[in-house]
Amino acid sequence: MLVEIFLNRITVMLKGYSETLLPYSMKIGFLILVAFLIISCNRQHQSQPSTSAKPATQNARIASIRLILPASLERRRTELQNYFDAATRNIQNFSSIYEWGDLAKEEFMDSVMFFDDKHQFNIALLTLAEADTTMKLADTYCAALEKKTLVAMTPEFYSKVFPEGIEEHSFEKLLTHEIAHRLHVRILKGDEEAMGPIWFYEGFAMFAADQLSKSNIVLSNGEMIKLMNEAERGSYSKYNYIFRYFVKAIPLKELLAKAKNNNFNEELIAQLH
Ligand SMILES: [Zn+2]
Repeated sequence: MLVEIFLNRITVMLKGYSETLLPYSMKIGFLILVAFLIISCNRQHQSQPSTSAKPATQNARIASIRLILPASLERRRTELQNYFDAATRNIQNFSSIYEWGDLAKEEFMDSVMFFDDKHQFNIALLTLAEADTTMKLADTYCAALEKKTLVAMTPEFYSKVFPEGIEEHSFEKLLTHEIAHRLHVRILKGDEEAMGPIWFYEGFAMFAADQLSKSNIVLSNGEMIKLMNEAERGSYSKYNYIFRYFVKAIPLKELLAKAKNNNFNEELIAQLH
């Protein structure tokens, strides 16, 4: 927009000169220069990603979401954008494998914010969630997708507070995980109550994000049962183990549909051997 205003001013200024002071050959020269400037600037303007349009292709869709960064992270814009783009592609791929491609067509978010200050992150997240902004949030709570805004701390903060999650592409997987929760809600036609117990919906997000798929953790039946029945949030790597244990035996779509049932855990526990 600024470029256009600037160009209009130059055009008026040059037209003014051309009417009064300049010989004919120079008038032609100025007009060619102005035409050239307008064409080249318009080209530049068109090459910028659009923030309002909803282009059809996936890449254009990714480009339409601009990252909001504090000044201290501005120099890392490209790196952070790449993580976000990768997460968006991951969720699209996962959705198409399970024929949920249509559910992933509409944007899951309209803005993305990264933070390097956990206090600022907490305030932003609690404000989005319309919660008390003085509430304490655990350090491990470092990414979320709330009110169509994806918020996340930096990759190094995530590795520091969740070292057991370190693996190849762990940060883009974290962002994918947060988007996967929203995909889960769409699969359930918006019914968040039907997401099932904590171990299940966190396990689903980890499965969708391909987190810790090479983990060699093994749990006994007793440990699994204990975790499945716990209302308090527990170990994500253990949730991952439990989820993958059941999804090997029962189709994913069937598990997602059954998770809302009161006897969901009991039904699964009965199948342990
Ligand atoms: Zn989660």
